[in-house]
Amino acid sequence: LSTTDHIEPHRISVCVRKRPFNKLEITRKEIDVVSIPGKGVLLVHEPKQKVDLTKYLDNQLFHFDYSFNETSTNDLVYKFTAKPLVQSIFDGGMATCFAYGQTGSGKTHTMGGDFTGKQQNSSKGIYALAEGMPTWISLLMSASSRFTMEKTSGQTSANANSSRSHAILQIVLRRNDRATTMHGKFSLVDLAGNERGTDVSSNDRSTLVETAEINRSLLALKECIRSLGMNSDHIPFRMSTLTKVLRDSFIGEKSRTCMIAMVSPGLASCEYTMNTLRYSDRVKEL
Ligand code: ADP
Ligand code: MG
Repeated sequence: LSTTDHIEPHRISVCVRKRPFNKLEITRKEIDVVSIPGKGVLLVHEPKQKVDLTKYLDNQLFHFDYSFNETSTNDLVYKFTAKPLVQSIFDGGMATCFAYGQTGSGKTHTMGGDFTGKQQNSSKGIYALAEGMPTWISLLMSASSRFTMEKTSGQTSANANSSRSHAILQIVLRRNDRATTMHGKFSLVDLAGNERGTDVSSNDRSTLVETAEINRSLLALKECIRSLGMNSDHIPFRMSTLTKVLRDSFIGEKSRTCMIAMVSPGLASCEYTMNTLRYSDRVKEL
């Protein structure tokens, strides 16, 4: 992939991003089980043992619209995911970009840090989605100078740490001559860590309730995106608070959705990585 490739926005695009090993994983000499052998391709090769103790690699191949490896910059990811959707909000459309994956897989790194204002890793020339978006929208606004932009952000859970709530940044575009009506909307969603499905060890009631709500909302999200892809008349957005909030982004001819699945490279995360890939595989347009 290069930054000069031409990109057509899909109605629904599903991409995957592999992050580099962190210091701890390097110290532990973790085995890299994820590779990106080609454009849009991702291969998981998990070392396994048969009952007779012969070793083999369990290979699982996945296809997505784009696959980003550990050397891909935020800038490159942005160009292939959110940027192609920016134009659609000037055409009166709705665009939504999700970051999905286990805690620590790179969702916030990709989406742009804390939506309340503080930026993460904003080194020169490289921006994450939440930083890049207003920049591009401002550029397009100045080219036509007819629009105004509003930003709102929020979390689904006030007291939990960010891995246990969904963070949403919404950018609303209004036409100057019709300031009271919304023209287009872009939603950036940093989803809660998806590892909760297997983590039911807690004895804390509020944690269990929260876990159930996260699982329900991620399931609802999958069902809504699938229904969109199948051009279904019924989109089950009432299934969760998250999908209720995103309701107006799911309906309408001009809605565009991009899901970026984040995966960790190591063997220790393999189970979560497979869960993430299976989920993302299900939301691909059929
Ligand atoms: P999540 O939001 O999914 O829990 P983070 O975005 O906080 O995960 O990432 C966990 C750590 O890994 C952070 O320190 C982040 O800076 C780092 N990281 C994630 N993705 C990348 C990447 N592509 N390149 C470099 N560092 C990354
Ligand atoms: Mg995060």
